[in-house]
Amino acid sequence: MTGSTTSPFTADDYRARMERAAAAAADAGLAGLLVAPGPDMVWLTGYAPPAVTERLTLLVLAPGRTPVLVVPTLEAPDAAKAPGASAMSLRDWTDGKDPYAATAALLDVDGRFGISDNAWAMHLLGLQKALPGTSYASLTDALPMLRGVKDAAELRLLAAAGAAADRTFEEIREVRFGGRRESEVAADLAGLLRRHGHEQVDFTIVASGPNGADPHHEAGDRVIQRGDMVVLDFGGLKDGYGSDTSRTVHVGEPTDEERRVHDLVREAQEAGFRAVRPGVPCQDVDRAARAVIADAGYGEYFIHRTGHGIGVTTHEPPYMIEGERQPLVPGMCFSVEPGVYLPGRFGVRIEDIVTVTEDGGRRLNTTTRGMVIVE
Ligand code: ZN
Ligand code: ZN
Ligand code: ZN
Repeated sequence: MTGSTTSPFTADDYRARMERAAAAAADAGLAGLLVAPGPDMVWLTGYAPPAVTERLTLLVLAPGRTPVLVVPTLEAPDAAKAPGASAMSLRDWTDGKDPYAATAALLDVDGRFGISDNAWAMHLLGLQKALPGTSYASLTDALPMLRGVKDAAELRLLAAAGAAADRTFEEIREVRFGGRRESEVAADLAGLLRRHGHEQVDFTIVASGPNGADPHHEAGDRVIQRGDMVVLDFGGLKDGYGSDTSRTVHVGEPTDEERRVHDLVREAQEAGFRAVRPGVPCQDVDRAARAVIADAGYGEYFIHRTGHGIGVTTHEPPYMIEGERQPLVPGMCFSVEPGVYLPGRFGVRIEDIVTVTEDGGRRLNTTTRGMVIVE
């Protein structure tokens, strides 16, 4: 999570976000939103507690009211320095007092509240006990697009994170792969991401040979061999905004089949990208990419959705998945990352972050999508 000091946003930006969120909650039939520490709180206030502990920290948003941050007294000085602090009032509670009673006093209505998906169960149970007239809904279910459409400043940060990930790829393709462990190449990736400005590395997948057939494979002890395909998928947060890109490289000359599968995934990725346009349902991006792979007879080997949103986290709505009818809106930002996974043999995945523009899509990753041969 980003520290509050790196935020480029002003208190007015945070005030506008909190007002928009409260209005969206009302539109969704909710009495308000209860936001726990995590991505929503960072996006709404710029505040991330120094450590998330059992002590209750909760942002209370309700239409027409000043936002209130319920915060442990010992952390109140930190919260007061958050970039969005002047757009909310702080209500601190000291050890030994009941934080749920303090929160309940702010919610003097019965009703249904949206609560962060990552709120601790003990806090939700405490609120339910203090406020028997209230009920709760998942904030992400109720307002899936709360953070979905990025403004110009957010898009600049996402583009900068993407450019840093691209520089990481340009440098990793020059290192030696053959004869080294996946974990060593993964450490190189993490170092490069940090050197190019990431304060947080979320994942550095290096999946060589048969490991490439497992989309969730993390880097392990396997020694990379000449002749291996190697799926690279890496990203994290730079200045609070995410990067996430995949390229599949080959150690030495690939076989015809390896080239064919790589070309197929590249074509599917291109088809998914070309489907991006305002008004198009998310599922159409998935369908466009999937059709290319299915038509070539590899449909059963594309075993995940085509993409996920990205912002202050590296995985969030909107999802490019069958059944998601949410129309694309300019400013949305998400991955297009089809793959083919041949069990016991190899895998290929190609992933770019794409943002929706007025007349199509724009890639935030621009390294070659052609097969790269490494040593
Ligand atoms: Zn090979
Ligand atoms: Zn990825
Ligand atoms: Zn991804």
